Amino acid sequence: MIQNLLDRALAQARPAVELGEPASYIPELGKVDKRQLGVCLYTLEGGRYSAGDTRVRFSIQSISKVISLAAALERRGFDTVFQQVGMEPSGDAFNSLVRLETSESHPSNPMINSGAIAVDSYLAPVISFEEMLAFTRALCLDREISLDERVYRSEMSNISRNRAIAYLLENKGVIQSDVEQTLDFYVKMCSLSVTAESLAGLGLVLASGGVDPNTGARLLKAETARVVKTIMLTCGMYNDSGQFAVRVGIPSKSGVGGGILSVVDRRMGIGIFGPALNQKGNSVAGEKLLEYLSAQLDLHIFAEQK
Ligand code: GLN
Repeated sequence: MIQNLLDRALAQARPAVELGEPASYIPELGKVDKRQLGVCLYTLEGGRYSAGDTRVRFSIQSISKVISLAAALERRGFDTVFQQVGMEPSGDAFNSLVRLETSESHPSNPMINSGAIAVDSYLAPVISFEEMLAFTRALCLDREISLDERVYRSEMSNISRNRAIAYLLENKGVIQSDVEQTLDFYVKMCSLSVTAESLAGLGLVLASGGVDPNTGARLLKAETARVVKTIMLTCGMYNDSGQFAVRVGIPSKSGVGGGILSVVDRRMGIGIFGPALNQKGNSVAGEKLLEYLSAQLDLHIFAEQK
């Protein structure tokens, strides 16, 4: 039944790929075929369902912000992470620095670039990229995740805006470690290559409170999983988060590589790949897919009791 539903969800969302474009400000991402679309769903009971392009590797981009936040909460603790990074949706584009300069002295939340760069500045001095890679592979239940060197170089050669954000954060005292090391760490995390399956794996671990339900191994503290899911619900889709919460109601995180990670608490993890993006930088067909699945499977966090 779930398999049929996924097939139908894919078919009804597919026309929407024409409504968006892949990100082109990172040149390497602009080369991706925008018509690809895939969805993968893993349930806590062990069900695994896939439809479409679920094994194609693509760039994790901003979804890595979830992994960095989880690592920072585990390694540095809640108080350090949220001392100078907020928990409020920003209402501005993901790469905006306007609020930093005008109204707030710290990033609004860890899911936008400024917040993630700040979080990475707490991690970079204490954990190597290799350790982050191992952590990512474990959380995504995917041992094949690796750094896409081409995407990494492509983003590094177009880094001015994030570099401006990072130095502004240093100027405000939010970043106190090496700025260039932090930027390198941030871009490497964004350049990891995943599949819709890896995102479903990560969603599954978060849905089960930080435990891999296949083995029973605890990968994250329950508190870390709770904090991450809450921030995903309020801030995970950038300045689309409000309408997405009303329409879909599933804590999610998108990336400009076209991925969406979704967590239906205590039930399932969902991973999506659809590189045609809307103006806000979210997968257009991916959002449609999730809206359909949410309605059909009653996945909305506040679904009406039937
Ligand atoms: N690496 C990208 C950037 O910093 C991530 C943005 C995204 O996925 N929204 O611009």
